[in-house]
Amino acid sequence: MCTLHSTIHWACTVVFVLSGFSIFMGGREPWTLKHGPQDHESLKPASSCPPIVYPKPDGKISFDLLSSVALTGTNHEGDQPAHLTLKDDRIPVDHNLALYEGPEQRFCPAGVYEYVPNEEGGNMKLQINAQNCIHCKTCDIKDPKQNINWVVPEGGGGPAYNGM
Ligand code: SF4
Repeated sequence: MCTLHSTIHWACTVVFVLSGFSIFMGGREPWTLKHGPQDHESLKPASSCPPIVYPKPDGKISFDLLSSVALTGTNHEGDQPAHLTLKDDRIPVDHNLALYEGPEQRFCPAGVYEYVPNEEGGNMKLQINAQNCIHCKTCDIKDPKQNINWVVPEGGGGPAYNGM
């Protein structure tokens, strides 16, 4: 326990000194700390991960996804140009669904991305419910092939949280 306390103490001291120096230098310190691979490079194949079973929301301290999206007051005009597009329409099914079981369905907090049966042939397709987007930009950062193009929606549409 003493070793743990000492380690935490020294780690905090180093962080404090480095942060103070960075602020003093206005962010122009002569080094850059790296933190390994980019977020979109760090997904593991679904086959190497055990499935996670989440408990159902209880409506008291946990809530279903769409009621949480409703609380954001999100709105986009129905006829505006799409602010979420794909660079290559084949990548979601051929790569993301095949290798990662569709991570878009999990990293998007607003249920924008859904894999649904493809009526035009093939098994599945990615459906983008852009109307629900709450502008967190997670998809822009986390999509494994950087295939999602996120642009600012027309007219500043999007979330309008009450009291913010
Ligand atoms: S920015 Fe991307 S991840 Fe975030 S809510 Fe919109 S579609 Fe989902």
